[in-house]
Amino acid sequence: MNFENKTAVVTGGSRGIGLAIAKKLAQNGANIAILYVGDESEGLNAKQELSEYGTKVEQYFCDVSDFDKSKEVVDKVIEDFGGIDILINNAGITRDKLVLKMEEADFDAVIGVNLKGTFNMIKHTYKNFMKKRGGRIVSTSSIVGLIGNSGQANYSASKAGIIGLTKSVARELAGRGVTVNAVAPGYIGTEMTNVLPEKVKETMKAQIPAKRIGTPEDVANVVAFLCSDEAAYVTGEVIRVDGGLAI
Ligand code: NAP
Repeated sequence: MNFENKTAVVTGGSRGIGLAIAKKLAQNGANIAILYVGDESEGLNAKQELSEYGTKVEQYFCDVSDFDKSKEVVDKVIEDFGGIDILINNAGITRDKLVLKMEEADFDAVIGVNLKGTFNMIKHTYKNFMKKRGGRIVSTSSIVGLIGNSGQANYSASKAGIIGLTKSVARELAGRGVTVNAVAPGYIGTEMTNVLPEKVKETMKAQIPAKRIGTPEDVANVVAFLCSDEAAYVTGEVIRVDGGLAI
């Protein structure tokens, strides 16, 4: 796997699965633009960690759910790096509740970041990829986008939406040599899942055929493959990374 002279944009790249993806790509030579929305010091720490691989790394404050702001940031990345070869749509949030208690704002916020954010980033990088006649787009769905989950109607809908978006854009860009794929992680140990009650964690773990919780690196390895030259003939695909949880 060699990403030398390639530039990857990783949304939500300052921690969790996004940081693991950024590291894996940087380890293999990619220049990295990470987009973050939270604590600036977290972004700076990530930048410092990634800089150790010796490639160019920049961080940009960007709420991906904001159409205009995300365009500004994509344009700035293209100016700073000379173009984008790899787009990783990883930013995501949860607001879990049964529909009975779910507010409109809970639904809109999750769709806004997870699904519209993915659309925004694809929309703003689309011409860049068409001009390059090549590239990779990988978005982070979830197994709940495939099988649903009680208490996650908003999140599951956003992740199922990412699959439809991925397959449609894959069809649009295949003739230009751009592949568009998604990964569907199962239960991965990050801040997003750390907040779950211990009892829920144990129950989920017991249901995983592989008998362990996934790591961000498990996901990053599959994403890196999808970004590689070796995956040139894989497009419109959704790969579960779940230790068999959704078999
Ligand atoms: P995490 O640790 O909570 O990280 C979420 C990331 O998304 C953070 O980097 C955060 O940025 C970023 N983010 C949130 N809102 C954003 C916004 N409006 N604009 C830009 N960035 C934003 O979660 P994770 O577990 O690594 O999850 C990464 C992705 O994998 C998500 O899409 C999640 O849905 C998906 N996923 C996770 C699991 C799991 O079990 N963990 C399973 C299936 C799918 P800041 O750091 O700047 O706040």
